Amino acid sequence: MNVVLLGPPGAGKGTQAKRIAREFGLLHISSGDLLREAVRNNTALGKKAKAYMDKGALVPDQLVIAMIRDEIVKAKGTKGFLLDGFPRTIDQAKALKKMLIELRKIISVSVNIDVSDEEILKRLSGRRTCIVCGRPYNVVFNPPLVEGRCDDCGGELVQRDDDTIATIRERLETYKLESQPILDFYKAEGVLADVDGDGDIEKIWKGIKKVLKK
Ligand code: AMP
Repeated sequence: MNVVLLGPPGAGKGTQAKRIAREFGLLHISSGDLLREAVRNNTALGKKAKAYMDKGALVPDQLVIAMIRDEIVKAKGTKGFLLDGFPRTIDQAKALKKMLIELRKIISVSVNIDVSDEEILKRLSGRRTCIVCGRPYNVVFNPPLVEGRCDDCGGELVQRDDDTIATIRERLETYKLESQPILDFYKAEGVLADVDGDGDIEKIWKGIKKVLKK
């Protein structure tokens, strides 16, 4: 089983990806994690990718596609792979299809965690982080015991610069523009499965399992 995981920022993709990989024995391929590792290890790829990542821009398709191909080849001994963060553009989706034909593989299902704009705004605008120890909180879902202070170290809780309502709306718009063609692509391929992403982690996980066990 080879899976593509799609969903907007704040959908809880990272958390669900780990669960899917564990439960179904899939190799978890996270493009963001792989790129960060390449930058840390100062590899040829890392050196090229760093400038784009620092700006928050997408790394050029050809670099990311080659990196993903290497990983997919490594999935030989597993029950399949789970792509997380890739494809991010329609060109990446098309390149993936071409590469999989060469490797004699297919995407079994593309899971789209579908979250309403209101829910994402609530989640991301409620995010706070301890300025001292980095522990994450959410004023709505996971508040600290004392408002504005970290339970662990008493440090001040601050909001990320890009977690304000105006910026979140902008990020959502960008995501929609980029992701809609990818959703359309997998729909046309007959492998798109929408999962309701409103609600808590357990509820979303149940929805994902239902789709993957079909
Ligand atoms: P993420 O952890 O998925 O938010 O990714 C962190 C950064 O890695 C992004 O801001 C991009 O610069 C880069 N990146 C991750 N995945 C891709 C991708 N599929 N295509 C291009 N750049 C990517």
